[in-house]
Amino acid sequence: MIREKFNFSLKLLFLSALLFLFSCEKKEKTYFETIALNDIKLSDPQPGTWRYNRTEKFQTFENFQKSKKIIPEAGKNTIYLQPIGGFNDLQKKQIELTQEYLKDYFQLETKVLPALYNSIFPRSVQRIKDGNEQILAGYVLDSVLMKRKPKDALILMGITERDLFPKPEWNYVFGFASYENGVGVTSMFRFYNGNLTESNFNESLERLLKISSHEIGHMFGIGHCLNANCVMNGTNHLPETDSHFARACSLCQQKLNSSIKYDNKKRLIALKNFFEKQHLNSEITRAEEDLKLIK
Ligand SMILES: [Zn+2]
Ligand SMILES: [Zn+2]
Repeated sequence: MIREKFNFSLKLLFLSALLFLFSCEKKEKTYFETIALNDIKLSDPQPGTWRYNRTEKFQTFENFQKSKKIIPEAGKNTIYLQPIGGFNDLQKKQIELTQEYLKDYFQLETKVLPALYNSIFPRSVQRIKDGNEQILAGYVLDSVLMKRKPKDALILMGITERDLFPKPEWNYVFGFASYENGVGVTSMFRFYNGNLTESNFNESLERLLKISSHEIGHMFGIGHCLNANCVMNGTNHLPETDSHFARACSLCQQKLNSSIKYDNKKRLIALKNFFEKQHLNSEITRAEEDLKLIK
């Protein structure tokens, strides 16, 4: 009798061990855990780069959830781009491509508003610095964009062909934003060194795509990324921006997805198709490597 009882407990133990193993095996990795294999660790910061003399706090997923941020809701879920200035055909093409890219990246409706002219800027907010015509960035936010934000706009991003400056004592700024209001402005000017041509088209396009998705990423509550090489890494200058991937790392994608709740695979395929169309080769490879892992 005692022996039988012992056998019975032994069987029970064996059975629960099996069940345990089975449940371990069955627990599938999430999309984010899977693609984390393709995250590339950050290297030690070099002098002159963003992280070299800054100590930013690592924003965990839990920190992110508590952060102040914009979340799409019914009737208020569109990203608008507002071109301001006199754009040539190549510049117009970059704006159209930025619209397509942001739509794929955020999986939200993205529209371009009819362009406004530089004549909307009073003389008092313009200056010439080192031969470049510049516009006061704060004026663009407060006096141009804020009052033009469409009702269904979650985000309104101005794009200028003129250079921007934030304060009289500053030389220039690539962009300027009010994250809580979902309003920002980016200048294309410095991305192509003042003269956009067929030969510097893709290099400057990549910069525009990275900087606009980075800025909108901040509006969605994502802090500077210290997790891996990522579009959300802080940047001091263009060579540093060029060294960052357009790909958001697994953690930043998890943060974005928790607010927008899109289909991860659909987003990845859309981004891969965009990169293929534009021949952005290293980004094609990265998207393909992520797709390989989730298939
Ligand atoms: Zn930033
Ligand atoms: Zn990241």
